Amino acid sequence: MSHFELRNGELHAEHVPLSRIAAEVGTPVYVYSRAQLEDNANALREGLSVLPRVHLAYAVKANPNLAVVNVLAKCGYGADIVSAGEMYRAMAGGVPAADIVFSGVGKKIAEMEAALDAGIGQFNIEIEEEGRVLSDLALARGTRAQAVLRVNPDVDAGTHAKISTGKAENKFGVAISDAPAIFGRLATLPGLVMRGVATHIGSQIADLDPLETTYRRIGELVAHLRSSGHTITHVDLGGGFGIPYTPGELYPSAESIGQMIARATDGWDVTLMFEPGRVIAGNAGVLLTEVIWVKPGVGHPWVIVDAAMNDLARVALYDAHHEFTAVRPTGEKMIANIAGPVCESGDTFAKAREIDVVARDDLAVLHTAGAYGATMASTYNSRALVPEVMVDGDRYAVVADRIASSTIMAAERLPEWLAA
Ligand code: PLP
Repeated sequence: MSHFELRNGELHAEHVPLSRIAAEVGTPVYVYSRAQLEDNANALREGLSVLPRVHLAYAVKANPNLAVVNVLAKCGYGADIVSAGEMYRAMAGGVPAADIVFSGVGKKIAEMEAALDAGIGQFNIEIEEEGRVLSDLALARGTRAQAVLRVNPDVDAGTHAKISTGKAENKFGVAISDAPAIFGRLATLPGLVMRGVATHIGSQIADLDPLETTYRRIGELVAHLRSSGHTITHVDLGGGFGIPYTPGELYPSAESIGQMIARATDGWDVTLMFEPGRVIAGNAGVLLTEVIWVKPGVGHPWVIVDAAMNDLARVALYDAHHEFTAVRPTGEKMIANIAGPVCESGDTFAKAREIDVVARDDLAVLHTAGAYGATMASTYNSRALVPEVMVDGDRYAVVADRIASSTIMAAERLPEWLAA
């Protein structure tokens, strides 16, 4: 069930009419549904309940808003982070440090130090040298870092090239063929407890086959490592589960994901770790926008909305599809292009799309914008940083302020030698 539904002819987030949020907060604005986040988190947990031991770490990158992280922490999720900034957010959002997993191909020394000092639960090492440095840093603190080795299985996830991470030519992890030797060397280091392996082959994965192929390769690696005398207690299978962006698209259910993983990991006897992001936050958010103008165009009119590529970059970055619907649809349809005010032709959300008829000042939403939406927002064209709202039943709160371009400018200054 979606928590963004028409009630009395108007789109609501849970019980809050979107027009109320637009009137009180302004547009563009991201609107999240707490109930949708919780439903998604619980559905995935339920789907994976066929597995013996599971640790769920929400991928903070998908939506790092403190309120979002807090809802997921309350659902019992840990956090998968890729920077010290995300670590501080996860902890501020209520995730215990011990439930945090630090992924990422470019951890800086200061970030590893901060993570060691915070006492996070696991480092996912991507480079042998990184492991050596981490070992030294841990030893200097009189501790040992719990770690796994991220492996690149050379599997094509069948997703967009820019979010594919598990092919040999991608920058992530160590080649699976090199993994036994690297793991063996890292396991001798006094500052590390090498307890397993990790993998993550990409995001928005529609088909379970590449995931199953990956997990089977990881299973062979685990067997190999064990036969070499290593103790493997944890395997981190990453995130990547895709979600529908277009009505009618079918994606694997949490139940079928759980069944596939149970098959592929049968007999591993480890704690299986997951780093889901999109499947938790994606359909829990919309980007609410107002139509500024409807402009005649060659072929089709242009619906110019006040949200733009700086607020939601996914279309410009990945040619992504976001459904566009009116907040108060009349039932009439039109074919139109939808674009924002930014001075790039790339700032186009849709071309020749059949949409609800909209006119100047009407409200509309871009759907399924809860993941990789606000987190990628910028102030390009000196636009304000888009605010975020969370709805909970019949109440809502602004969970991230709109940051005016004047506030951004206040952090800039003219050097003395220009100001004179
Ligand atoms: N884990 C890692 C290492 C990632 O790079 C990503 C994103 O690409 C994720 C988890 C989350 O992926 P998703 O949002 O597709 O579940």
